[in-house]
Amino acid sequence: MAKKNPHLNPETFRDSLATVLDDGKRNWVYPKKVKGFFYKYRTYLSWILLGILFAGPFIKVDGRPWLLFNIFERKFIIFGAVFWPQDTYLLIFLLLIFFVFVILFTVAFGRVWCGWACPQTLFMEMVFRKIEYLIEGDANQQRALNAQPWNQEKIVKKSIKITVFAFISLLIGHLVMAYLVGVDSVVEIVSSPPTAHMAGFIGLIAFSGIFMFVFTWFREQACLVVCPYGRLQGVMLDNNSINVMYDYVRGEPRAPIRKNATENADKGDCVDCNLCVQVCPTGIDIRNGIQMECVNCTACIDACDEVMVKVDRPIGLIRYASENSIKQGFQKLLTGRVKSYIVVLVLLLTVFVSLIATRDDISATITRFPGMTYQEREDGKVTNLYQITLINKTFEPQEVELKSLAEGMDVEIVGAQHLVLDAQSKFEGRFFLVRNQDEVKMNQEKVELALFYKGEKIDEIETNFTAPIK
Ligand code: SF4
Ligand code: SF4
Repeated sequence: MAKKNPHLNPETFRDSLATVLDDGKRNWVYPKKVKGFFYKYRTYLSWILLGILFAGPFIKVDGRPWLLFNIFERKFIIFGAVFWPQDTYLLIFLLLIFFVFVILFTVAFGRVWCGWACPQTLFMEMVFRKIEYLIEGDANQQRALNAQPWNQEKIVKKSIKITVFAFISLLIGHLVMAYLVGVDSVVEIVSSPPTAHMAGFIGLIAFSGIFMFVFTWFREQACLVVCPYGRLQGVMLDNNSINVMYDYVRGEPRAPIRKNATENADKGDCVDCNLCVQVCPTGIDIRNGIQMECVNCTACIDACDEVMVKVDRPIGLIRYASENSIKQGFQKLLTGRVKSYIVVLVLLLTVFVSLIATRDDISATITRFPGMTYQEREDGKVTNLYQITLINKTFEPQEVELKSLAEGMDVEIVGAQHLVLDAQSKFEGRFFLVRNQDEVKMNQEKVELALFYKGEKIDEIETNFTAPIK
């Protein structure tokens, strides 16, 4: 007996997930192939976006990657601008701007991102799903193939599918690694024995495995149970947000077309063909209203428009619309909420731009060497040891000089005469502060150190100097 899906029942759909049957098992979704205006333009856009996504790590400006999200070294390059760990506050600002932009966009236009640009949807619907249709056929053929025993046809089709899926997952895994560590490092990892770059090799295999799992089996579950953005829709959307919506005013009461025209006279435009449900990749019935599971993929719009054309009724029974535009017939885009988010966004952008403009080119961190107080030398001098981390955020090599501003106190860099920093590099070293013992007046004194670049003071750092009083 076929298992019931409680999610398609208009009385109970909010109490369950479309992909879980009433016995708790996964309800595998077999979305029917769709064609139409929106699907065509989503396909074109997906080519462009996938092209950009795959080209991203290869784009270099002056030999540097244009985009890099190196979480291991905490170095990020976003549109050519480099952010080091010391720039965390800038990244937090950038994230805040991103979140406010996403909220603003969602309040106004719903989940357009999910349906048109999210990499999960792009890969699932525009790459893996299309390949699946090509190998296993449309929804009914896939259902039949899965139900049949492991005969030659099933083994061949499943083997081809798994091989192609594994190859694409490997590609995506390498792509993600290229965004994380740079394309040159990925080339080095794949062209060396695994033991030479064990961590990188494990990363490549792990990412590829995750994508294989997600696109072969997990699929729409990533949007339904993992993605936080999807789960936040309930608090972001309001009655003026534009979403993929069913026009229940026009569509209800739904009824199949009868030969006798008078039987249809008091009925709505929905002919209850169920096609909008059959094409839905998350298995929901959009006629039940906005649901967390709807990724706004527009498949139901195309399916319904096709039906409307066939039954000679106006298209757009399912369309981009807001609750208010359907119920009251008017659409307000610039609501008070949208205006408030715009103001917050502009403020954040202004602060971010000013922070970027005033950011130091070279940053320095100085800490005392752990576990040491002072050392006394035979020549009557007393020293303290420090650690210094310098980051050159510019694209040119820089030579800097570290000086003490305290009278009679010298700086001795350990093992180096000059602090020469390569472009975009980090220098970690040690140095001594040296004072004549007979000039020591207190056990602990505050010392100002200054960094000079081309004779100009670019930073001042305060630290402590300890010494015995004799
Ligand atoms: S309800 Fe329509 S827009 Fe939403 S996920 Fe299903 S097919 Fe896509
Ligand atoms: S595709 Fe359109 S006509 Fe068919 S059931 Fe869905 S809303 Fe009704």
